[in-house]
Amino acid sequence: MFYLTEQFFSIQGEGKYAGVPSYFLRTGGCNLNCPGFGTCYEMNGELRYGCDTYFAVDASFAKIWQKIEQSSELIAKLKDEFQIIGYRPHVVITGGEPLLYYKDKVFYEVIEWLVSQKILVTFETNGTIEIDFKNYPAYKNCVFALSIKLTNSGESREKRINSRALRSIVSYAKESFLKFTIDARLIETTALAEINAIREILPKSDIYCMPVGESRESIVKNDKFVFYFCMAQNFRYSDRLHIRVFDTTQGV
Ligand code: SF4
Repeated sequence: MFYLTEQFFSIQGEGKYAGVPSYFLRTGGCNLNCPGFGTCYEMNGELRYGCDTYFAVDASFAKIWQKIEQSSELIAKLKDEFQIIGYRPHVVITGGEPLLYYKDKVFYEVIEWLVSQKILVTFETNGTIEIDFKNYPAYKNCVFALSIKLTNSGESREKRINSRALRSIVSYAKESFLKFTIDARLIETTALAEINAIREILPKSDIYCMPVGESRESIVKNDKFVFYFCMAQNFRYSDRLHIRVFDTTQGV
């Protein structure tokens, strides 16, 4: 059994596949909180801080998440959706942290089906969970967007960087790349040193940097800094198209 918080057809807004029509499956739950990203929300009368997908991270929202107990039901729904779309789009599995469920029987059956249909599957992951590729080989056929968290996430290094997990994903998966969410303050201080420390673990991975921001208003505070940082360091700039176009609307 695993939790889905939303599923929808849209366009991938970030990273290497930005601009590609994509079907999103967003799982519920995460092993990090990332309060440093500063999205403020209210829960049970208390103000809390998290990332832009706090509703898929904070277990207090679990009562509105959908329990997926049968892979056949989700697969049937996907078949219907793809029929309506008219083709089988790129599928993005995001969260929260979707790899929390990588061994889950129902979850793995869905991945096996997607891979068997030759559908391009990208996992958006924080890269902290080590996958057993030998016993779960379908993951070898997936793309991994490794959104490794830096100090601006507000999480400790021990929680946000797992060298073994990262090396394993990069060596076994058919494709992977690094994606960092950074802001003006981090660029002025430790962004380059932190990224270089991760490059020592993964020296060959392509690097994408995108601006922190859960809304249009907050993205414009950081985008130019990230843009010039990428030019200076020969990194790839990634925008957040869905936020530019839809602002804070969920499910797009
Ligand atoms: S790892 Fe990603 S989904 Fe989880 S709290 Fe951090 S930014 Fe949000």
